[in-house]
Amino acid sequence: MRDEIRGLARLIQESCRLTVFTGAGISTESGIPDFRSPGGIWERFDPEDMTFESFLADDEGRRRYWQFHHDCWKSFGDAEPNPAHLAVARLQECAEVGAVITQNIDGLHQRAGSSEELVLELHGTMWEVKCLECGERRGWRKVFDLLENEITVPRCEVCGGILKPGTVAFGEPVPDDTFTAARDASISCDLFLCIGSSLSVFPAALLPRMALESGSRLVIINRDPTPLDGSAELVIQGLAGETLPAAVALVEETG
Ligand code: NAD
Repeated sequence: MRDEIRGLARLIQESCRLTVFTGAGISTESGIPDFRSPGGIWERFDPEDMTFESFLADDEGRRRYWQFHHDCWKSFGDAEPNPAHLAVARLQECAEVGAVITQNIDGLHQRAGSSEELVLELHGTMWEVKCLECGERRGWRKVFDLLENEITVPRCEVCGGILKPGTVAFGEPVPDDTFTAARDASISCDLFLCIGSSLSVFPAALLPRMALESGSRLVIINRDPTPLDGSAELVIQGLAGETLPAAVALVEETG
């Protein structure tokens, strides 16, 4: 493991433009379960119920979706950034970070200190709600209170339209501008660092593949194997909160 940490530190030092790409695995050490591991979210909710199609279909679909979000707010609302999020933020000080692309909806990169303008939230944020009719976006708190008071399908205060969490549901398109910025950061970097992602949710998982096709080196830090391990310059099979901070500390020490 020590050699792998040194290898990662060296790749970071050699990089002129680094793109960070994170998934649910970077937040498990903050107490937020990923989706697929044992004890993950799909043991409590059926992914079939969380599609954009079923949300749009009827009030029953929307009720189930809001129930899932209510559960997320209650379970993870007070999660704190862990050493891996903090190490990603520290990378900005010692490397040329072009973007922090995340599939996560928890906002922990920004809370850890990553610059707002660098963080690209491919799947939106759980801390906002949006109206599908008038486009109004606002904070989550008021809707959370409605759900606590058994209003199971909240509506937009401005136009009465369908309100939806600010996250991207299965089958809902990733916003064009966010995906374009993420693609640009992926094809223009020389080091693409994947942390805590199974690299199996699309279109997000296209990005490391685009980076590879554009000639970037790929590094994967993940607890379990991923489909791109064979194409990576370096694979560190371990916990993000242990391995990344150690590598960033080496970069900081050696300058
Ligand atoms: P995933 O659940 O498919 O894969 C997570 C990966 O992280 C797994 O391969 C696992 O081995 C690894 N992992 C778990 N804990 C780890 C740790 N401490 N250190 C290193 N690796 C670890 O997650 P994904 O690839 O992000 O895709 C699933 C979708 O889940 C995404 O769309 C994302 O929006 C959503 N999601 C987000 C959150 C969040 O915001 N925190 C939580 C759950 C799911």
